[in-house]
Amino acid sequence: MKINKKLDSLLGHIFGANKNAFSEVQIDKEVVEEILQIAREAYPNEFVALLQGKVRGGVLKVDGLIFLPGNTSDEGAVMQIFMLPLISDAVGSVHSHPGYSASPSTADLQFFAKNGFFHMIIAEPYDLDSIRAYDAFGNLVDYQII
Ligand SMILES: [Zn+2]
Repeated sequence: MKINKKLDSLLGHIFGANKNAFSEVQIDKEVVEEILQIAREAYPNEFVALLQGKVRGGVLKVDGLIFLPGNTSDEGAVMQIFMLPLISDAVGSVHSHPGYSASPSTADLQFFAKNGFFHMIIAEPYDLDSIRAYDAFGNLVDYQII
């Protein structure tokens, strides 16, 4: 409840309306499988991609990935995105961490705050249990895989 309230006010500020407010997140199974595969292939580098989706009836549905040039890096992939607001249907980001922590770094939190409203981090061993999702403030968000 607290999170949604904060999200509402943030999104209201950014988009001038609450049309993108959501209380539930659904992610396509294929998207999750692609994330797992790419994270494993990119290792030991990080990969980063944008999440494509839509909010309808209070449900955020993530149904695709958008790749940008230079989407893997050994020096903090997440810093290379700066065009997110210009890409339609982008709701946030996903990136991988080498190591076992899927907690956002300080740089990640700064990025989350400025780019979209839903973000995922996947850590080793790059399986379903090593994925975490966050809102723009770095608070954990639950999601369903459908
Ligand atoms: Zn990170």
